[in-house]
Amino acid sequence: MQQIQSSWFVQAMVKATYDMWLKGWDERNGGNVSLRLLESDIISFQNDFYANPRHESLTQDVSKLANQYFIVTGSGKFFRNVILDPADTLAVVKIDEQGKGYYIMWGLVNGGLPTSELAAHLQSHIVRIEHSQGKDRVIMHCHATNLIALTYVLELDTAVITRLLWEMSTECLVVFPNGVGVVPWMVPGKDEIGYATAEQMAKHTLVLWAFHGVFGTGATLDEAFGLIDTAEKSAQILVKVLSMGGKRQTITTEQFKLLAQRFDVKPMQEALQ
Ligand code: 13P
Ligand code: ZN
Repeated sequence: MQQIQSSWFVQAMVKATYDMWLKGWDERNGGNVSLRLLESDIISFQNDFYANPRHESLTQDVSKLANQYFIVTGSGKFFRNVILDPADTLAVVKIDEQGKGYYIMWGLVNGGLPTSELAAHLQSHIVRIEHSQGKDRVIMHCHATNLIALTYVLELDTAVITRLLWEMSTECLVVFPNGVGVVPWMVPGKDEIGYATAEQMAKHTLVLWAFHGVFGTGATLDEAFGLIDTAEKSAQILVKVLSMGGKRQTITTEQFKLLAQRFDVKPMQEALQ
C-alpha cells in the first residue's frame, strides 16, 4: 500500500465519508467533500504523486488558490465505497499556477474526475479562507434528509429557516450563530451555483440548496461534519414538530440573548428579532 493511504488526511476523508454514509446523508454518489492541504501535510508523500500528473481545465478563475493542494471526493464515487478503495474514489489535486485548472497528483487510479461540484467547493474555499483568516479548510456537501424536506415547506428565507432551526435545539444558536444561507434551486455542478454558494458562505457556515442538500464548512472534517449533524438533528426535530401539528411553545428571543451571552456568540440579527 502507498504510504499516502495511511496519511492522516486520507484516513480522515475515509472516516468522514463513511460516517456520512452511515448517517444516510449520501445515497449512491450523493455528496462531496474537499479538504485543503498544507505544504506540511503533503511534503512527505511526494513519492506517491504521479510523475506526470494529468491536467484538467476549469471554467472559473481560482487564481486565489494557485498552487494549493486539496483532497477531494471523485465524481460519481459512492461514499460507502471510499473505505474500500480510497485510491479509486479520492483525489489529491493541485491548483495550477494561473488558477485556470488543476493537476491530479494522486488517486482516481481508475480514471474519472474530482466531484462535479468542484466549482462550489473552490469558490467557497476562497471565501472561507478570507472570512476565517485561513482557519477553515473543509467544504462538505451532502443530501441530509430533513434539511432537504424542510425546503419544500418553509419559506426559502435565511432568517426564517435559521430562527426555526435555532428554536429546535438549544445548542444550535451556539453552533451556527451566523445562520443558514439559502440558495434557490439551480442546476447542480455548474459555476453559477458555485458562485451563489460562495456568496452565501461569506456570511454563513451552512448553506442550504433548495430541494437538493446542504453545504457546511469548518476548520476540520470533524467541525464541518458536526455542524451539518447539528443542523440536520434540529431539522429532524422540526419535521417531527410540524408533523405533530406545530409548536405550542418554544425558546424565546430573551432566552436566545441569554444563550448568546453565556457562550459569547453574536447571533445573526435578522433571525434573533
Ligand atoms: P459528484 O458525484 O460529482 O460529487 O456529485 C454528487 C452530488 O451530490 C452533486 O450535487
Ligand atoms: Zn448534491
